[in-house]
Amino acid sequence: MRLAGQEKGQAVTPETTCRRCGTCCRQGGPALHSGDLTLLRSGALRREHLVTVRRGELALPPLGREPEPVAHEFLKVRGQGGDWCCMFYDHGMRGCTIYGQRPLACGLLDCSRPQEILAIAGRDLLTRFDCLAEDDPLLDMIRQHEARCPCPDLVLIREQLRNRARRQDILHDLTGLVTADLTLRSRAAACHGLSLEMELFCFGRPLFQLLTPLGVVTSESAGGLVLRCRPD
Ligand code: SF4
Ligand code: SF4
Repeated sequence: MRLAGQEKGQAVTPETTCRRCGTCCRQGGPALHSGDLTLLRSGALRREHLVTVRRGELALPPLGREPEPVAHEFLKVRGQGGDWCCMFYDHGMRGCTIYGQRPLACGLLDCSRPQEILAIAGRDLLTRFDCLAEDDPLLDMIRQHEARCPCPDLVLIREQLRNRARRQDILHDLTGLVTADLTLRSRAAACHGLSLEMELFCFGRPLFQLLTPLGVVTSESAGGLVLRCRPD
């Protein structure tokens, strides 16, 4: 989450205290830490509320300015619609609908004291495997998906796509990966009756969505998926 009022590349103006402007909530829900297990056990947070951010995905580090590849997977409170704005943020009342039971990171985030959130950033994070029993039938599909469709090196792909001579080969390889990703998701949804929300918890965001910020557009044709680059 960025600091309040901070646009990319601008200097930060320190604030004296959190004024509950909601900027951080609108920029994305929190990552979950082991201290949040009580919220999951009590049902205040459910798996449907969470999205898995897999290793290798590009994400903005806490108080960071540029997206970076994620070193270890973690769980994050999902957004609203197609927006990253935390699903628990109420625009009308301009506040948190689970304030009394908000995750650990939310309670620590204060623009005037960024060191508190930075002290826990990337540490002691929960993953989907902390929320699944060892005999959960979803585990097998999750492991299959991770083995067949790990998140690729998105920084490398972005570089490779800049090379027009190699672009079609890269897109061809990515088409196979995107297709496998969607096929496994569909199979899991059919076998286990997964909602879209549970799909995001189990498998994270689909690969084609991760490629969109790299300028890759995915569409369907009679012959299958078609990936192309947006014009330079
Ligand atoms: S920490 Fe408080 S002041 Fe800073 S962006 Fe979040 S709600 Fe606004
Ligand atoms: S859980 Fe509440 S405090 Fe935390 S980001 Fe969401 S709306 Fe903001």
